[in-house]
Amino acid sequence: MLAKDIEKVLVSREEINARCKELGEELAAEYKDKNPLVIGVLKGSINFMADICREMDCYLELDFMDVSSYGNATVSSGEVKILKDLDTNVEGRDLLIVEDIIDSGRTLAYLVDLFKYRKANSVKIVTLLDKPEGRVVDIEADYVGFDVPNEFVVGYGLDYMEQYRNLPYVGVLKPSVYETN
Ligand code: 5GP
Ligand code: MG
Ligand code: MG
Repeated sequence: MLAKDIEKVLVSREEINARCKELGEELAAEYKDKNPLVIGVLKGSINFMADICREMDCYLELDFMDVSSYGNATVSSGEVKILKDLDTNVEGRDLLIVEDIIDSGRTLAYLVDLFKYRKANSVKIVTLLDKPEGRVVDIEADYVGFDVPNEFVVGYGLDYMEQYRNLPYVGVLKPSVYETN
């Protein structure tokens, strides 16, 4: 039923699975003696977080943060606010931020600064998707699943008006979906 709203698939479920396995192995090697705090940025990272941490065969802890920069629109407002903070004290910890997508880079720049201010020992970023053309702030992820073009994408955690997060792949919506909203 959801597939009828999708114009094209950009990253298939199979491609995501294979990439999660590769990234998970690299991350497990990097973090094997560090007991990292893996921080999911809600809500877009939920599927990627669940898949990637199951591919990391090492000791780790999970926590979540909810920040907002988009509201319900498809264009960034440029403003970042904390909707839910971590439960964990990050001082001295090795942090791995898990994001769904980096567009302008504002959300991640804000989070990296915040965690450094809170005296984390290290802060790295893994993102499922990267939109290099959207960048406004000078920040790069340490690990990237896939580069995507400068289009609004949905699925595998990413929403349009809170819908489509449960699509098992990443795709672009048909223009008719926007026209009826
Ligand atoms: P940034 O702060 O890098 O501009 O954007 C960060 C957040 O904006 C992402 O974590 C994501 O929630 C949202 N975002 C950016 N690009 C897209 C997109 O193409 N589709 C969706 N659904 N969300 C996006
Ligand atoms: Mg996000
Ligand atoms: Mg959103």
